[in-house]
Order: sequence, then C-alpha cells, then structure tokens
Amino acid sequence: MQTIALSDYTIYVGPIETGWQEFLTRKKYTQILVIADENTQTHCLPLLIRALNGQAFDLIHIPAGEQHKHIGTCQHIWQQMLNVGLDRQALVINLGGGVIGDMGGFCASTYKRGVDFVQVPTTLLSQVDASIGGKLGIDFGMVKNSIGVFCNPKAVFIDPAFLTTLSTRELRSGFAEIIKHGLIQDAAQWATIKGISQLDTVDWPKLIVPSLLIKKHVVEVDPFERGLRKALNFGHTIGHAVESFALETSEPLLHGEAIAIGMVCEAWLSQQQGFLSTADLEEISAFFIQIYGHEVLDEANFAAYLHLMGNDKKNEGKKINFSLIGAPGQVHINCSADADTIFASLRYYQQLAG
Ligand code: NAD
Repeated sequence: MQTIALSDYTIYVGPIETGWQEFLTRKKYTQILVIADENTQTHCLPLLIRALNGQAFDLIHIPAGEQHKHIGTCQHIWQQMLNVGLDRQALVINLGGGVIGDMGGFCASTYKRGVDFVQVPTTLLSQVDASIGGKLGIDFGMVKNSIGVFCNPKAVFIDPAFLTTLSTRELRSGFAEIIKHGLIQDAAQWATIKGISQLDTVDWPKLIVPSLLIKKHVVEVDPFERGLRKALNFGHTIGHAVESFALETSEPLLHGEAIAIGMVCEAWLSQQQGFLSTADLEEISAFFIQIYGHEVLDEANFAAYLHLMGNDKKNEGKKINFSLIGAPGQVHINCSADADTIFASLRYYQQLAG
C-alpha cells in the first residue's frame, strides 16, 4: 500500500481493504451510503463489500454514463439520502468513474450543507485525474461541468484491481489524462509513454503513481485554478467542446477520446504560437493518431464547437482561454486564439486522417 498525503486528505494506492482499515482508525461514522452505477454495482461493489468487512451500508444506484450527470439525477440522489435518513455524521462512498465521483461528491457536499465523502475511483481516468483535486459538479444544458463546487474528499482509494473489468476503450480514454500529465509537467513520463504502442501490455500501476504525483503537485500549488492548475486544461478547451457536441449525437465520444482530439488541435496552436517545435508537434500528433485512430469532424459543426468554447468557464471576458504546451514537460497558461486560428487547428487535425 502506497500513501500520498495531500494537505487535508490521503490517497491510498493499493488493495482497498488495507486503505479502508487504516482510514477507519481516524474517524467513526454513524452510517455509510454507497453511490454506484449499474456497472460498478456489478463489477466493483463485491470488492468494496469485502473491504467493508461486514459493515452495514445503504446503496443508491443510478444509471451509468455522462448523459445522466445532470440535476435530475442529483434530485434522485438527494431524495434517496433523505429517504434513508442520512445524517451529518454519515459517510458517502462514491464507487465509480468520474461521473459518480463528480456527481456523488457534489450531492454529498451540498446535502445538509455537506457530509463527508470518499472517492473510490474505478476507471483509469478517475484514478489518475477526476478523483483528486476537489472539483465536483454536473453538466447543465450542453455545457459540461458548468454547475459545481470545490470540495475535497476525506480520502481517495485507488485500487488497480478495479481496472480488470474495464473495457479497452475506457482504459484508452483514461490514458489521455496520463499522456496530458506527461506533456504538461514531466518530460520523463512522456518519454516512457511515447514508447507505448499496445494498451493491453501496459503496466498501469507504474503509470498511475507518477501521474497522481503530477496532479497532486498542481492542485496543491493552486487548489482553486487561479494559476498553475489551469495547466491541466491543456486539450480541454477544444476537447470539451467536441465532447459536449458529440454527447448530443447518436455517437458520443468518451471524455479522453475527445480530449485526445483537443490535445492534437491545441498542440498545433502551441506550435503556431512558437512554444512547440514542429518536430515535437509531429511526434505528438502521430502518437495520438496511433493510439486513438482518427475521428472525422464535420466542418459544418466547427461554428457550434466555437460557440461551446465561448461558454467555457475558463474564459475571461470574451477571450477563449487555452493552456498550451512548450517542449514536453512545459506548459503556457492564459493563452488565447481567435476564431480563424481555432478553425485552422481543427483543420490540422482533419488532415491527419490521410
Ligand atoms: P464514467 O464515470 O462514465 O465511467 C465510464 C464507464 O465505465 C461507465 O459506464 C461506468 O459505469 C463504467 N465503469 C466504471 N468503473 C468500471 C469498472 N471498474 N469496470 C467496468 N465498468 C466500469 O467515466 P470516466 O471516464 O471515469 O469519467 C468521465 C467524467 O469525469 C466526466 O464527466 C468528466 O467531466 C469527469 N472528470 C472530472 C475531473 C475532475 O477533476 N473532477 C477530471 C477529469 C474528468
């Protein structure tokens, strides 16, 4: 069991039973409530139940998927919390990917002005990214994560055993955030990553811990995203727009798949602004296409992407804000680009198809 201490909570990496026993020595709770979705109830709850070792709990179960990360599902969760008589000395366990972590954490931190919660991330994406840093929330209208709060969990339990039931597509989605962490903060991690060609042979725990340490560093320096934390938005300005748009279609993209597209476009913007060399741009683009393939983006939708970017909460005034990269491991925050340049970056991605 490895522990990573943040200022007010601990991340336990390893078998959840061990971390859970250590956590319970710190505080006793009157009641435990587990929030799971249909997949984590099937695949992950049995492992959690073993760790709970006979402790009683209530279960709220919600449908799986980003399309349920909205206020209607929160109302269901809050209602169930009231129905089971959850009091303020209770603990909520969010068992699932980033959707459960963001939404369950948001419901817990607002219910009766806040009850304690812990994150048990069960996807690669949530293990390296979503479960750390205290950003909680839901989508509203077509705008991703537009309603939410900052609130830290009491602990995070990262057990790589959960990853064994995850699909390759979901693993690949989570990998995008690991790639991002390397590109923005850690040239050595990027050097390891770019040697990967087959996801089924990757030793995930070896990549998870360095990635967690990067995220920990960034969120500790800047918990409320006033400076360095914006670095984590590399690929996300365009990626979120592509993701939000696709979410309304019959072929939604996973978060990491959309962010991978965003990182290619924003790497091009980085090269245009003189931060990134052409050789690095080409290497980064080729790597993303090799791992993620190429998604056709219809030029007729570019204006809609731009409109979605205009709603991004990272913007200041009318300017669309970007975090761009320099040589691998270096990041430039508070950059902006005009509409024509953003369209050109999408066209750059398009022409990689050939
Ligand atoms: P997700 O929560 O939708 O999980 C993906 C799918 O995998 C779901 O169908 C889920 O039921 C299933 N699943 C989860 N664990 C499983 C397991 N062990 N075995 C089998 N199936 C399993 O998606 P995600 O990719 O984990 O998270 C994406 C969300 O995270 C987005 O809403 C994004 O906005 C958010 N996010 C938040 C932050 C943050 O800082 N708060 C950072 C990055 C992303």
